[in-house]
Amino acid sequence: MDLRNVAIIAHVDHGKTTLTDQLLYQSGQFRDAELDKLAGGQHNLVMDTGDLERERGITITAKNCSVVYAPPAPEGEPAKEPVKINLIDTPGHADFGGEVERVLSMADGVLLVVDAAEGPMPQTRFVLGKALGHGLKPVVVVNKVDKPDARPDWVVDQVFDLLAALEADDDALDFPIIYASAKNGWADHALDGPRRNMQPLFETIVEDVPAPKVENPDPDAPLQLMVTSLAFSEYTGRIAIGRVHRGTMTPGTTVSIVNRAGKVSRQKTARVEVFSGLGRAEADAVTAGDLCAISGLDPIDIGDTVCALDAPEALPPVAIDEPTVTMT
Ligand code: GDP
Repeated sequence: MDLRNVAIIAHVDHGKTTLTDQLLYQSGQFRDAELDKLAGGQHNLVMDTGDLERERGITITAKNCSVVYAPPAPEGEPAKEPVKINLIDTPGHADFGGEVERVLSMADGVLLVVDAAEGPMPQTRFVLGKALGHGLKPVVVVNKVDKPDARPDWVVDQVFDLLAALEADDDALDFPIIYASAKNGWADHALDGPRRNMQPLFETIVEDVPAPKVENPDPDAPLQLMVTSLAFSEYTGRIAIGRVHRGTMTPGTTVSIVNRAGKVSRQKTARVEVFSGLGRAEADAVTAGDLCAISGLDPIDIGDTVCALDAPEALPPVAIDEPTVTMT
């Protein structure tokens, strides 16, 4: 399936959760039970699962989710292929452990969600700078345009100024703009658009975020995946999350793991999952470009490369500059 990996950057309260829920909801992925949960106002659970983070001291960095968008076919034309969109949750501020860089290394573009009244906040500047540094182009979502004090044109100018200050190139400065009211479930290219649904945002993601760059598309090429975040399950222990760089990730497979010190260990993968809706779904094979979660590997750490058994080649580490900026 066609694929997009997009990281969402937003200042707290600017609507990341609401927007994500709407994308999930409108992509038709919710089962009824999940809808009920939403109706019960528990939707904040969607992107905020920090329990184990506290419990184990393991940073659960990527609270990712995934939607499948089926573009409507124009009259008389054949149906278009559905597109899977991995939405990668990004910390909205500077961190001191390289979390932002690692999360961004899984993405091919970013959604910058900005409140239509408040404009971009200083805390997101750092993350946005990192995204630009990784060559990721932003799609700007001016959210909450329904608010009486919304000033979307001013907000767009502010975003432009911010990007210019971060020395964004002309391509990034020419960012696509979506005006949205996530709360009301619509997004448009123009402020006076038809305000029907989120489809314009889906279309923009598909058109403006590049498909994953894969150096070697051969699914039989030797596997390589860098672990960019960890989760934890009571039942299976550590769960390694990352983007398949090369080859195919499969369950029940003996792999070589090269740790950051270059030491190689042999381990066997148990369950392999892809992101699906709010959760994860078991997968038989995950090919290059897609994100996956692997259980059964322990010891495993962020920065380790999971490789084909007979090709233990580490991927280059994600470049991390510790932030020197002062947060305001
Ligand atoms: P997050 O912290 O970025 O995940 O923000 P949330 O999605 O939790 O939203 C923060 C608050 O803004 C909540 O009270 C939402 O109901 C509200 N909100 C989100 N989107 C919109 C919108 O489009 N319009 C208005 N008026 N409020 C919104």
